[in-house]
Amino acid sequence: MRFEKLREQVLLSTPSEKEVLINDLRDSFSVFYKHDNVSACPYCTSKHIVKNGIRKEFHRYICRDCKKSFTFRSKSSLRGIHKLNAWNLFLEDFMSLNITPIRILKQRLSVSEQTIFNWRHKLLATLISMEVKYKGEKVEFDELIFLVSRKGRQQMGINRKNKHQYKQWRKSQRGESDHTVKVFAAYGRTSGLLELHKSGMGRTRKTDVEEYFTKDKIQDVTVYCDKHPAYRGFFKDMKIPHETFLSTLQHVSRDNADVHNQTVNSYCKNFKEFVNGHLKGVSTKYMDSYLKWFQYLQATKTELNKQLDKVDQKISFDIKENLRKQIIQDQNGLDIYRRTEFNFTAYLRRNGRTNYGVCKNHYYNTTMADIGTQIFLPPSES
Ligand SMILES: [Zn+2]
Repeated sequence: MRFEKLREQVLLSTPSEKEVLINDLRDSFSVFYKHDNVSACPYCTSKHIVKNGIRKEFHRYICRDCKKSFTFRSKSSLRGIHKLNAWNLFLEDFMSLNITPIRILKQRLSVSEQTIFNWRHKLLATLISMEVKYKGEKVEFDELIFLVSRKGRQQMGINRKNKHQYKQWRKSQRGESDHTVKVFAAYGRTSGLLELHKSGMGRTRKTDVEEYFTKDKIQDVTVYCDKHPAYRGFFKDMKIPHETFLSTLQHVSRDNADVHNQTVNSYCKNFKEFVNGHLKGVSTKYMDSYLKWFQYLQATKTELNKQLDKVDQKISFDIKENLRKQIIQDQNGLDIYRRTEFNFTAYLRRNGRTNYGVCKNHYYNTTMADIGTQIFLPPSES
């Protein structure tokens, strides 16, 4: 009754009043409102939890075991996002499977470029733990390389004078070298699933392949790949059926036209175009995020196509609902996001690079100290 009266009043208000109201409503509305029920404590996984009132429209809970108080957002990437109106619009754009440039989103959502950049990576961090597994199918395997990039970083000992030198150096780097970052790409021909994974730097070793192809990841598969000694050594040792070809010959076997990795190879080319063309290069620091974004887009499109093929059946695929569930259920994204800077310096260190440069985003620098990573701080000399 009270609501009906309120509604009537609202409908009678002037257009300019309505505009104010619409904005107010949008600022206090979350597209996740249906998901605010929690069944277990996000901190200790205990099911012994009780409701403890409502705060900012969401149910608050208390865990009887660890005594922590939380909402469904506490351990998800949604934590700390306040500009709900802009965030909802941002999500909508993401779910539309568009890759809208940040400067356009900035105008549309009227928030800063930094905010959009952070939101994007927070969201993508929830996708990073998504792992693809291949079972009983033919798997095409390939790799692509990127020159290590520290785009957006400062104090790397590059001043105006030797900037030119640095650019020349980048241009001179061709093919596989100690300065290249490897990306493994796998594609299952039956499942239609693509996986892109950042491996180490430099020449591919057998241990890199070993790290990637865990027993869990591939079961009962035949792998199609080129004649790289690291691949062949690994597959032979593990007794994994595999067929090879020369990558110089269009990635196809001379004896059997079915033996090729052209599908995965064309995805690799698209990804390169996405990174170098659309995004104008990305820092190695964010490579994982962009890999998973591309993978997510491809997986969603594959799923949509599968649904369209079901001629007489009802189509039951909801991109928005799926992504929302992924965001809510994911418990690692927030940590991954907060550790981005730490993981990046650790990655460079592991691969023998010691000059990290300084991160412009102070958010990461403060949380780095919080998680006790001082030992990994870059040396002060360039
Ligand atoms: Zn607990």
